[in-house]
Amino acid sequence: MLIEAYDLEVETVPCEPGAEEFAAIVRLQTDISPVLPYLNRTLRGAVYIANAPTLTWKKGGRNIAFWPYKIAIGHLEDRAEAEKVARGLVDLVNRTWERREEIEPDHEMRRRPGPMDVYKLLPRTNCRACGQPTCFIFASKLVLGHVKLDDCPPLQEARYREQREELADLLPEDMPAIGRPE
Ligand code: SF4
Repeated sequence: MLIEAYDLEVETVPCEPGAEEFAAIVRLQTDISPVLPYLNRTLRGAVYIANAPTLTWKKGGRNIAFWPYKIAIGHLEDRAEAEKVARGLVDLVNRTWERREEIEPDHEMRRRPGPMDVYKLLPRTNCRACGQPTCFIFASKLVLGHVKLDDCPPLQEARYREQREELADLLPEDMPAIGRPE
């Protein structure tokens, strides 16, 4: 077993007035960096940065980041949920580590596309139907995971089908968000 014990820190994070949201840190006494290439192989949509090392992943609308001595979890409803999700992630790490002989580790880093990679595939009309002032700002928010492809109405039109498919490949729905939407 890679993780035998952990401490859980749960705190509230500032968000919309009236809405309460929690974030948690699972503090570990064990360096879990050896399991990250195995998680990189098995977790769909994970973004692995080998030289940090860190692996970020999105599950059930929550952003999760695995670090050598901690696991960070965002978008939690309360402490009870934090405890349940933390237990599940610790089990996931331990199960993956126990199965490591059956899994080929993946050391490849997955690069997040840049705003220009995404912008080139948008309609580029600056029509503002997405609520953003320009297509480039929309592209910048797409790569951070703060808006979705469905938020651009023209992109749903048949004439943009190919671009939309390319964008969907570049930006899987389960790619973790970075930071918080403004
Ligand atoms: S709705 Fe689409 S085309 Fe219009 S500004 Fe937004 S990203 Fe650009």
